[in-house]
Amino acid sequence: MALSVLSHIDVRPADHRVSEVERQARMTNPGFGKVFSEHMVTVRYSEEGGWERGLLQPYGPLMLDPASSVLHYGQAIFEGFKAYSQPDGGVKTFRPLANAQRFNRSAERLAMPQLPEEIFVEAADALIREDKAWVPKAIGESLYLRPLMIATDAALGVKPSHEYLFVLFASPAGAYFAGGVKPVTVWISEDYVRAAPGGTGFAKCAGNYAASLVAQRQAKSEGCDQVVWLDAVHRTNVEEMGGMNIFFVYQEAGRSVVVTPELTGTLLPGVTRRSILELASELGLGAEERKITVAEWNAALREGRMTEAFACGTAAVITPIGRVKSRHGDWIVNGGGTGPVAAKLRDTLLGIQHGLVPDTHGWMHEVC
Ligand SMILES: *Cc1c(COP(=O)(O)O)cnc(C)c1O
Repeated sequence: MALSVLSHIDVRPADHRVSEVERQARMTNPGFGKVFSEHMVTVRYSEEGGWERGLLQPYGPLMLDPASSVLHYGQAIFEGFKAYSQPDGGVKTFRPLANAQRFNRSAERLAMPQLPEEIFVEAADALIREDKAWVPKAIGESLYLRPLMIATDAALGVKPSHEYLFVLFASPAGAYFAGGVKPVTVWISEDYVRAAPGGTGFAKCAGNYAASLVAQRQAKSEGCDQVVWLDAVHRTNVEEMGGMNIFFVYQEAGRSVVVTPELTGTLLPGVTRRSILELASELGLGAEERKITVAEWNAALREGRMTEAFACGTAAVITPIGRVKSRHGDWIVNGGGTGPVAAKLRDTLLGIQHGLVPDTHGWMHEVC
């Protein structure tokens, strides 16, 4: 068994690899998050010993004590970012340090330990190098990296765990939403909220998703693809769409302006959101962070001040919103089609990620 040594991670790969034919079969139309590559990285933490050396090993089930605190009290956080194939056959990840930093902000909110950024990035680099064959080549396809941390104390007392497990695995990903960039129909959730002031909205923690599922189910039963979250206090300000941030395109003083709800602590600060704000000016777009109410969304469309709405996130990059439904009425955005600003931003981001558009911001991290 080969064992190579990196600075934080021992590499002990599988003796037997999936055959080329089998891998090709699994990677054909992989969808999102259903196919996994052959390895994973685990790193253990204890209060006394800190972070141990990590281990890259064959992908497989974890063994957990049934008393593990994560199973009862939900101390669990995760991240998501992607590796993209490059024109020269290499592989680069998109802004992995931003994800490492957000992981630590989530950890802090959940009373979990900080993971050194270099361990986070090195774990991903090691896994991608080992499973490079699992990085899809087509534009828009990628290898999705899923880091997570869970509390592993076998104890039922309600308190921060002393022991934790960091896990990183990877999943070849096609287009996130089946059917490509078809605009989605959204349901404005007035019965449920995702995050409240002082809560965990800004953290990527498992519980936020658990609490969102019933609203997502309601959206489906209303004939919608996704739910739009409003602020918990007034139930008027638009915050996010499902697990993605949301943007509106306004026409102001002869140019397009991308407007996204400001970060209030209840929104998840997306890396894609931030990247769009940073890209806007070089694409000739204005960019602004401010509050947008549901009433303003509807009025601005009717008055022609707003021309598009779209959601953004690592998984789907950019997804146009074509239709909005709520208890108080339905409306159509941009004739139900994909608008030029959403299309331009999507092409630019994907172009940077695949090495087809110059990376003037230094966002891409070379892996292999
Ligand atoms: C992950 C996530 C996003 C998008 O963040 P990216 O860094 O762009 O992937 C937006 N909203 C929620 C609730 C999320 O969990």
